[in-house]
Amino acid sequence: MKTCILVINCGSSSLKFAVIDALTRQAHLTGLAERLNDASASLTFRQGETRDTRPLEDGTHAGALHALIGLLEQAGLLPQIAAIGHRVVHGGEHFQASVLIDEAVIAQIEKCAKLAPLHNPAHLIGIRTALECFPGLPQAATFDTAFHQTMPEHAYYYAVPMALYREHGVRRYGFHGTSYRYVSQEAARILDKPPQEASFVCAHLGNGASVAAIRQGKSVDTTMGLTPLEGLVMGTRSGDVDPGLFGHLANECGMTAQEINDLLNKRSGLLGLSGLSSDCRELEQAAAEGHEGARIALEKFCYRLAKHLAGQLVAAGPIDALLFTGGIGENSAWVRARAVAWLEHFGFRVDASANAVCVRGQGGFIHAEGSTPILVINTNEELMIALDAAALAGVL
Ligand code: AMP
Repeated sequence: MKTCILVINCGSSSLKFAVIDALTRQAHLTGLAERLNDASASLTFRQGETRDTRPLEDGTHAGALHALIGLLEQAGLLPQIAAIGHRVVHGGEHFQASVLIDEAVIAQIEKCAKLAPLHNPAHLIGIRTALECFPGLPQAATFDTAFHQTMPEHAYYYAVPMALYREHGVRRYGFHGTSYRYVSQEAARILDKPPQEASFVCAHLGNGASVAAIRQGKSVDTTMGLTPLEGLVMGTRSGDVDPGLFGHLANECGMTAQEINDLLNKRSGLLGLSGLSSDCRELEQAAAEGHEGARIALEKFCYRLAKHLAGQLVAAGPIDALLFTGGIGENSAWVRARAVAWLEHFGFRVDASANAVCVRGQGGFIHAEGSTPILVINTNEELMIALDAAALAGVL
């Protein structure tokens, strides 16, 4: 029986892929085609101990997928592929779970493109190209927003006129849902509880960062909103600002909507505050060497994170554990310790030596005795996408 799933995450100039055996949950091949639609387009992959980068003769998305097919053939994996799973950022209110892709689903993803203009059109290119390249294979879509569709009204409405919600879909959607679903299920397994009985506050801290409240297995609130700009300080995104800032920048600085969008999405966050880098690891090094901007950026990051963790405790109710995941959450003992230090009077305390061990793929408990449990878990969104596609395609 074929049990491998090809997972595709297609961006405007990149295409990440993984071949995962849905039965063993092992990744056989992972890789990335980048700088697509540019002369320098290339394909990098990893299979076991082998790692290779090759230039892409045809640097389009279709060219990348054809090169990937060649790679799969070479690796003997092509006949094993039973289905394809696509990551899609925005599913709006329409998708509460992963679905098999057909024309109606494609039309809905297109409709949601207004809410995610940078992401959904790129996903559609990946989906359409994959349908052409792999005719007859079942293909599924997994949405970053779907897990948060259980949020109650009081969490997802903005306090703006309701007509904006009704006519333009202006509400909070939340993102990183696939990661939260994986991490919360994994945490429940570690705590030996049925997922539907386990409650968590979870911080997904990567270049994009958010916190979510998961109450008895369901998302009840999260810090990202209509777009992935709301909430925490991120690599290049500002997170929360006074909404009055938009008018101020337009009126006082003569900035256009596009310029304000760019400023808050691409030049703010850790990068804007530090004036140095959006990369947490680099900033930790620079701060240790006395860089003032790096210190301020990291302090702001941790303080905002702590405030949002506390905020999500309101939504989550009594929790089984506080969870950390994502590149920063899985690797930065300093960020975890600093953020949790603000939460001591909420009953959270980190154990310094347990915390120091949880880096580079090592997960585990990091709390001190008497604290509410705190767990570091390595996220695996690709595996979730693969398992969803496998279930929908009847592979498992
Ligand atoms: P992601 O988007 O999940 O890949 O996460 C990327 C972020 O994780 C970047 O800010 C990295 O600097 C950060 N990161 C990765 N490894 C470390 C580390 N050892 N210490 C601090 N930050 C790290």
